[in-house]
Amino acid sequence: MSVLVFVESDGGKVKNSSLEAVVYGREVAKLTSGSVVALAMGDGVSADGLASLGKYGAEKVFHASDSKFNEANINATSSLVASVAKESAAQTVVMARSSLVDAIASRVAIKLGAGVAANVVAVPDVSAGFVVKRGVYTSKAFANVSIPQSARVLTIAKNAVGLEAGEGTAEVVDFNTTIDDTDFTVKRVSVEKAEGDVLLPEADMVVSAGRGLKGPENWGMIESLAKTLGAATACSKPVSDMDWRPHHEHVGQTGIKISPNLYIAVGISGAIQHLAGVNSSKVIVAINKDPEAPFFKAADYGVVGDAFEVVPKLEEALKAAL
Ligand SMILES: Cc1cc2nc3c(=O)[nH]c(=O)nc-3n(C[C@H](O)[C@H](O)[C@H](O)COP(=O)(O)OP(=O)(O)OC[C@H]3O[C@@H](n4cnc5c(N)ncnc54)[C@H](O)[C@@H]3O)c2cc1C
Repeated sequence: MSVLVFVESDGGKVKNSSLEAVVYGREVAKLTSGSVVALAMGDGVSADGLASLGKYGAEKVFHASDSKFNEANINATSSLVASVAKESAAQTVVMARSSLVDAIASRVAIKLGAGVAANVVAVPDVSAGFVVKRGVYTSKAFANVSIPQSARVLTIAKNAVGLEAGEGTAEVVDFNTTIDDTDFTVKRVSVEKAEGDVLLPEADMVVSAGRGLKGPENWGMIESLAKTLGAATACSKPVSDMDWRPHHEHVGQTGIKISPNLYIAVGISGAIQHLAGVNSSKVIVAINKDPEAPFFKAADYGVVGDAFEVVPKLEEALKAAL
């Protein structure tokens, strides 16, 4: 019985969230006495990078290297994942959540006659059936769901497992697919990439700021702190609505949902709609001059103080320590 992990890459490098999915797959394989196979697609990702998935638990990697898979085409990718799942007799398909994965998970499940659970946050309990814990209501609550089907598709939330690398090299096998051209129903015409040294959806650390910063001219200290940490920058919704910051930085219920290891919120109140997009971050630090700010209830660490004093001091201390 194998576990198939679908991995995505960006700029030729396997995404960290996909490495976490491989580790998750390894844990499922241990529980179900199986082995882990992975699937990567497109010609941009190197054979060495794919072989290194062995460090995270993959024994074999199927590589659909045809350049037609460079585009994240929903129908074609669903067919590809389902056909590799059949080829490798996988009972469990694991994928890290992304906009592509959110679109293909149920399609893959239908093709395999599998049960599907999205936004899974912990390794399954297999003591009686197959029960997974998933985040619901923008991860403000959790549900334990049992998947009675013998095949299942799981999409994994970031930070569901720790990213531990061991030793090992995976065997990389070219996968010659016969995906029908009619599956390529949509053609990508152009791509506009978000600018910035560290991209927000993939960032391990994020420094975010809100209306407490008073105006766009004050973002220099936020960018500087982010640079010192190697973090991405983000903002609250009113900040992007007022064009103080670009819209692709807005996080929350109506913005991007992120789960970095560290989220620093500066001058943000912590309204429920903001928290909906950031509350699955591993460690949250809130800096706010109002001790009653709601963010302090969600934060692991809180600093009550004026951002204009605290942020430069924090950066100074970090520079001395790093
Ligand atoms: C349907 C809907 C969807 C929404 N979606 C989102 C969303 O996706 N993301 C989002 O962010 N919001 C969203 N909102 C808006 C949300 O409800 C809040 O209005 C918003 O998050 C508040 O932004 P803010 O905290 O930056 O500003 P404010 O509420 O104005 O808070 C500013 C904070 O800064 C603090 N402050 C002021 N000066 C300083 C200083 N010098 N130093 C330190 N702290 C200071 C204040 O004490 C205050 O807590 C949504 C609202 C609705 C109705």
